[in-house]
Amino acid sequence: MADREDGGRLANFLYGLGDRFRRRQTPEPTMALNVTGIQEPVLAQGITIPALYAVTNENLVLRTIVSKLKQEIFRRGYYFEKKFQLKCVSCGEEYSDTVEQCKLCGGEVRKPDAEQLLYPKKIIEGMNSMEQSFIQVLYEIEHDLNVVDDAFLILVKEYYVDPETGEIMFYRVKEVIRGNPIFMRIVSDKRGVRGGRYKVCTLHRDQISYPGQEETCEVCGNKMQEVHYVNMVGSGKTQYYVEGEVIHVSKYNPSRLYGKSPVNSMWRQAMSLTAMDNYIYTSYQKRRMPKGIISVTTDNLESMKSFWKAVDEKMERDPHYIPKVGIESQTGRGGVNWVKFMDTLDEMQYTAVRDEIRARMSAFYGVSNVFMIDNGKSGGLGNNGLEILVTNRSVEFGQKVYTQVLFPRLLEQFGVTDWKITLYPNEEEDEITRLRRDEMEVNLAQRMMMLGYKPELLEEGGNRDIRFVYSKLPDDGGGAPPAGGGMPPGMPPGMPPGMPPMAAPPPGGAPMPSPVPGGQGVGLRNRGPASPDNRTTAGLGSPMSSVQQRGPMPTQQQKNQDQISNAGRLRGA
Ligand SMILES: [Zn+2]
Ligand SMILES: [Zn+2]
Repeated sequence: MADREDGGRLANFLYGLGDRFRRRQTPEPTMALNVTGIQEPVLAQGITIPALYAVTNENLVLRTIVSKLKQEIFRRGYYFEKKFQLKCVSCGEEYSDTVEQCKLCGGEVRKPDAEQLLYPKKIIEGMNSMEQSFIQVLYEIEHDLNVVDDAFLILVKEYYVDPETGEIMFYRVKEVIRGNPIFMRIVSDKRGVRGGRYKVCTLHRDQISYPGQEETCEVCGNKMQEVHYVNMVGSGKTQYYVEGEVIHVSKYNPSRLYGKSPVNSMWRQAMSLTAMDNYIYTSYQKRRMPKGIISVTTDNLESMKSFWKAVDEKMERDPHYIPKVGIESQTGRGGVNWVKFMDTLDEMQYTAVRDEIRARMSAFYGVSNVFMIDNGKSGGLGNNGLEILVTNRSVEFGQKVYTQVLFPRLLEQFGVTDWKITLYPNEEEDEITRLRRDEMEVNLAQRMMMLGYKPELLEEGGNRDIRFVYSKLPDDGGGAPPAGGGMPPGMPPGMPPGMPPMAAPPPGGAPMPSPVPGGQGVGLRNRGPASPDNRTTAGLGSPMSSVQQRGPMPTQQQKNQDQISNAGRLRGA
C-alpha cells in the first residue's frame, strides 16, 4: 500500500535496489478461515445482524444514544481543506509554509490544484439518485458503525470503454450510496486479503469466473477483475463489486475482516431494558397479571363461587369496579386474607437497575447521562463542563473514522490528491478555550518575531483557529545571525533591521514572562513576588496560574453578603 501511495522517491529507491537481488517475503499470517471466498461475520451468541438493528430501533435508550452520537459528529458539517500549501513537483515533499523551492531536492513547488475538486464537489454536494445528500449517507454509515461496527460505502462508477480495443480507459464516480451490512460481505482468501476467488467483468456483471476458469469475459473479451465485496440480496441475485467500488470501515474494532458489534456486546443489557419497559407497559395496561390472590375461609363454598362469578362479570364490564362484600359467619371462624403478588417498582429496585444499565450503555459510546437530558441527579451547571468533555472526546474519535480513513479513501477514488475533507470540530468546545488557544498562538508569534521570524497568518478554510507559519526574515548586512544553533537564546541578539520597533510584548496583554533573564525552568524568578490582588481577570473559579490558588478576591458585594449571613449565625456555629 505504501508503495503505491508514495510513488516517486520510495518507488525509485526500491526499484533501483531490487533489481540486483532475489526477493523473499515473510509469510503473511493466515487466519483460521475455512474458506477462500465470501466471509461471514461472526455472530456472537447467535444473534443475527437484523436482530441487532431491530433491538437498536426498539430500545429507546440505545436509539437515543446512537442518534445523538451521529447528530453530534456531523452537526457542523464538512469542508474541503488544502493538504499542503506547497508541494515539490519532483519529489513530492509537502510544505505548510511558503518556500521558494523544495528544501530537499531544490525542485519546483506548486500550489494545490483547485481543478481536482470541481467534479468531486459536484457529486458530494449534490444528491444521489435516492435524493440523499452526502451527509445523510454519512448518517447511515455512522448508524451502521454504532450498531454492527461495519459500514460499506458503495461508489457507483461509470466506466468508459474504448470501442476499438474494449479496454476501460477511465471511469467516473457517479454517486455514493450506503451498502447494507445485512447483505454486504467481504470476499477474501484465507489470509484475509481481499479477492482471491471470483472474478467479474466490470462491464458484464453477470459474467463470473471461478479459480481455474477463463479469465476473460465471454461477451467482450475484457480481462476480468477480482471481486472484493458481494451484496447477497438473495439467491441468484448476488451482486459483485471489484476493487475500488466499495469502501469498508470499522469504528470500534477494525480488523482484517469485520468489526465487532457494540450492540452485540450489550445485548443482554438492551434486552433487559426492553423487558423492563414491557413490564411497565403491561402493568399499566388492562391485561395485567393479577395483583394478588384472595383466599376466603368459608363454610359455604358454593355461594362464594357464585358471588365471585358475578363479581368477575362486573369486572369484565368495568375494570375499576370494586366489589363490596359482607361475610356471614355462624361459627365465628373464617376471614378474608389479602395475598399480594405484584411487587412495587421500589421493591424491585427498578430505577436503580435501569440507571445502572443505562449508564453502562452510554459509557461505551462515550455519551454522558447529562447529555441524555437526565440532569436530575448530577444536576447543576458545575457538572456540565466535565460531562460535555466526555462527549467531545467521543465525537472527536467518531470524526477520525471519517477524516483519517473514509474520506481519504473516497477522495482517492475521485483522483483527488491535493485536498482533504475535514469535519468541523464539535461546537461544545467552549468559546473560552478557543480564545485561550488563539491567545497563546499570538503570544508565540510575538516571541518568534523577537527571534527574527516573520509570522504569517494561515488562512484555513472556515476554520476559525488562528495559526501562523513562520519564515526567516532576510539578513541585512552584518547583523548578528539570529539563533544559529537552534537553541533559543535568553536574550535576542540585536533586532534584525526589518523588525517593527517592538522590543517588548505590549503592555496590558496576557501576563507574559519577559525573556530575560533565564526564563522558564532555570529557577530564576523574573516576575517579582506573587500578587493575587493585582489579577486583572476573575477567571472561571479555577486557579489560572500557579500564583493564585484561592480564586479571586471577594468583591465588596460578596463581602457584605458574607457579613449579613454571618450576623445571623451563632458564634462558632
Ligand atoms: Zn523536492
Ligand atoms: Zn464483458
